[in-house]
Amino acid sequence: MLGLSHELKYSGPIFDAHTHIIDTDVLQILVKIGTKYGVERSLLICHSLGAKEFAEKMYPGRFVLAKYIPSTLRFTENVDAIVREVKTLREEGYALAKMQSAPMMRGRVKVRPDVLKMDSVELDPFFEALADEDIPFLLHLSDPDTYYEKRYNDQNYFSSKKADLQELEGVVARHPEVKLQLAHFAAQPETGRLNELGKWFDRYKNFNVDMGSARWMVRELGKAASKSRSFLTKYAGRILFATDCVAYTPEIDYYEGRYKSLRLLLESDAKSVPLPFTDADTVDSGGTFINGLALSDSVCRKIYWENAERLYGH
Ligand SMILES: [Zn+2]
Repeated sequence: MLGLSHELKYSGPIFDAHTHIIDTDVLQILVKIGTKYGVERSLLICHSLGAKEFAEKMYPGRFVLAKYIPSTLRFTENVDAIVREVKTLREEGYALAKMQSAPMMRGRVKVRPDVLKMDSVELDPFFEALADEDIPFLLHLSDPDTYYEKRYNDQNYFSSKKADLQELEGVVARHPEVKLQLAHFAAQPETGRLNELGKWFDRYKNFNVDMGSARWMVRELGKAASKSRSFLTKYAGRILFATDCVAYTPEIDYYEGRYKSLRLLLESDAKSVPLPFTDADTVDSGGTFINGLALSDSVCRKIYWENAERLYGH
């Protein structure tokens, strides 16, 4: 198809379930490169109402629009402030809410790790508002193991990945009525974490995961390709293709590298192909390589398209 690498065999439509718009001037580049790689629809996280209106006008019907709710609002104002963001979401024309509540956000506003955790009772009004309005919630809460090793050492703001995953599981367990999309494979694409993520899938039915962050997914899922292949095949109905591409730069290679490497990961049997862009987490330790999972066509179809259409199509 499309003169892409002969290793890309899937020829159906693709839904990219995690993209961002920051700069309206470069949205057309995200769309153009996505289209080249088969993307027909995307979930677009809008960082302003103006950006949302622009995207809707330029590409009617292409995007499922997510409202970015700053997680830091609950610290700098109060929980009511994020509840209000939910209450106005539908009338502003959004379909879902997105929150980035990764550990770095606590560092940014200098808040201790035990204050207003997402699974605390203080946050219940927020989740009740999502449930009342039947608004799906896309949540990024934890990060790669590499970040905890290298970046999250200041104990004033950061605890541990174990504690952050407990917080994330707490959200899933305490709010069965909220439809959740957990970003970045629920922060558990690392080989040693797949068994636990499988238990979550078996125990809780209210969440799906996305594959946002090509370098993180490629780096970790490719480390034990046959184990990952079995895992993605088993839970194919709960996994969404996603790049986490951010429309912020005119640099074509930025978008191209992410679409290409994720598609090679899923469809191909590539072995030790260098990631076509720099992975800051492995740049000093030999780099990141793509090892393809060679998923079947029917598994690809679910992950690339059917799951997202079922959740967000109309
Ligand atoms: Zn993102």
